Amino acid sequence: MLRTHSQRGMLKWCTIAKLQLRYLSSMGKQCWKCKSLDVQNTFFCASCGVLRESAENENYFELLKLRKEFNIDALQLVKNYRHIQSMIHPDKFAQKSEHEKAIALEWSSLVNKAYKTLSKSIERGKYLLTLDGVSISEKNTSVDKEFLLEMMDVNESVEVAESAEDLEKIASELSVHIELLNSKLIQHFEVNDMDGAKETIVRLKYMTNIENT
Ligand SMILES: [Zn+2]
Repeated sequence: MLRTHSQRGMLKWCTIAKLQLRYLSSMGKQCWKCKSLDVQNTFFCASCGVLRESAENENYFELLKLRKEFNIDALQLVKNYRHIQSMIHPDKFAQKSEHEKAIALEWSSLVNKAYKTLSKSIERGKYLLTLDGVSISEKNTSVDKEFLLEMMDVNESVEVAESAEDLEKIASELSVHIELLNSKLIQHFEVNDMDGAKETIVRLKYMTNIENT
């Protein structure tokens, strides 16, 4: 009885261990070369030092060694990005195997994408919402009528503006608005108000669209 019990326990343990191994390797956490499990390092295997394979869902904040938050340190982001790109740049792997070259290329474009996303506040906000399971599509986003009318007014005043001075005035008003929305967005994320964040991001998009025309 005791034996069967411990056997059963052993079997269970093996299954769990196997499942864990499969999970870790699917997460890109098992080294493709030395097979060691390494959950510490992002880019290089701690055992053999080889560039590890990227997983399907790498977290952009983790990739760029930043805390997952909206109000990031922009300078730190640039610093980390440059440092990481210098470590994984495909040129560094020119003498390595085809597989390593391919991995380096993959990492490099992934890190670029992460950097582009996190460096722009709207994109960073949208990404944080996606991590939280909230998606923003252009179609199903609703903004209140009042705001839309306001935006139409701004659009109109851009159209009827007669001088560079007029346009400048509109632009500076817009940038004040955008600034305000940005600080609102920081507050929303600070208190985990995802609905508020979503609404503010949509508004920001409207405003920056006008600003860019
Ligand atoms: Zn290794």
